[in-house]
Amino acid sequence: MKTETKRSTICVQGGWQPKKGEPRVLPIYQSTTFKYETSDQMGRLFDLKDSGYFYTRLQNPTTDAVAAKIAALEGGIGGMLTSSGQAANFFAIFNICQAGDHFVSSSAIYGGTYNLFGVTMKKLGIDVTFINPNDSEEEIKKAFRPNTKALFGETVSNPTLEVLDIEKFAKIAHEKGVPLIIDNTFPTPINCRPFEWGADIVVHSTTKYMDGHASAIGGCIVDSGNFDWAAHGEKFPGLCTPDESYHGLTYTESFGKMAYLTKATVQLMRDLGSTQSPQNAFLLNIGLETLHLRMPQHCKNALLVSQYLEKNDKVAWVNYCDLPTSPYYQLAKKYMPNGSCGVISFGLKGGREESIKFMDSLKLAAIVTHVADARTCVLHPASHTHRQLSDEQLMEAGIRPDLIRFSVGIEDADDIIADIKQALAQVK
Ligand SMILES: *Cc1c(COP(=O)(O)O)cnc(C)c1O
Repeated sequence: MKTETKRSTICVQGGWQPKKGEPRVLPIYQSTTFKYETSDQMGRLFDLKDSGYFYTRLQNPTTDAVAAKIAALEGGIGGMLTSSGQAANFFAIFNICQAGDHFVSSSAIYGGTYNLFGVTMKKLGIDVTFINPNDSEEEIKKAFRPNTKALFGETVSNPTLEVLDIEKFAKIAHEKGVPLIIDNTFPTPINCRPFEWGADIVVHSTTKYMDGHASAIGGCIVDSGNFDWAAHGEKFPGLCTPDESYHGLTYTESFGKMAYLTKATVQLMRDLGSTQSPQNAFLLNIGLETLHLRMPQHCKNALLVSQYLEKNDKVAWVNYCDLPTSPYYQLAKKYMPNGSCGVISFGLKGGREESIKFMDSLKLAAIVTHVADARTCVLHPASHTHRQLSDEQLMEAGIRPDLIRFSVGIEDADDIIADIKQALAQVK
């Protein structure tokens, strides 16, 4: 599908393009394997001389169709589905970093990603420096070293809802000769397309709004095709020098703009196997078909809910980047003029204890470890995802002990607000 096609049309009809007599609906190719007629045909696939499906750990027509839809939504040249958002972030970095390398990341990122980068990847010999994304260009550049291979950030951070200045980050990355990788999970390409602001690679936890119905864990990597790996060949030997596991083939020479995604597929997926199942990709695709309808409703409801909370006496503070009181309001308006996402956070004057009582009193909003779902849900990081941290450690991570993460769904805003109202009546 052409990139100038509108995003709503891509949501509904992108990806799977049935030909004469083929199913209208994306079929689930529930097969691990694919048949060939001669041994030579199969051999050529293994040498990457021909393209074709042979084993679902590497590629499958169902997952490929969904990856193509997400790539079209982001305005990229191609995409790859992964088994989870965690796998997408790991692959995105590991595809260009090896032991001895280093990358720079915003500190305002999802807790799981923070742990992956700061603990697990360090064990693999890949070092990260976390920087404050609001620091000046000069300050951020100081974190770069000769062996730095990427810059990473989240468009809207989970759960602190800080908006990234993507243009500033792209400028820094490109002056340093490395790609900018953006986790665009919260806004989705409906509300922000980081490639339009200079990002090179986009990653997603498709588990969130893209699926939208809390049905399937998944992730995706999309390449803009804009980063010139060969121009920085000494930095990216994995892409620009021969791969011994493919008889000395060089990805940039053989695959041009598709070098990064081809390597991620034929080398990382082959060896690490974090594949998304065709069944999950099918469910994800159904979610994507209504993404353009759900996102505006999430944003509209979140604004109404946050405005209601701001006016309530029992509420100490409200954090939502679409509110004019947010320090990120200007950035949100620049990068996401139609709204950011449906996730907000707030605290109660009664502190931690009253926050817990408030959550326990909610009826429509469910306590679940999830965000960005059609159903309104709520989580108290201090008692749930971050419960091992002391109050001091929580503050260091930018998470106040009273912080309630509230993921506003697509129900009627009146009902969500009525639920909040009755729960607030239960607290001091
Ligand atoms: C949830 C999330 C992830 C991790 O995704 P999973 O699908 O849960 O593995 C990564 N980044 C962001 C911004 C997230 O919200």
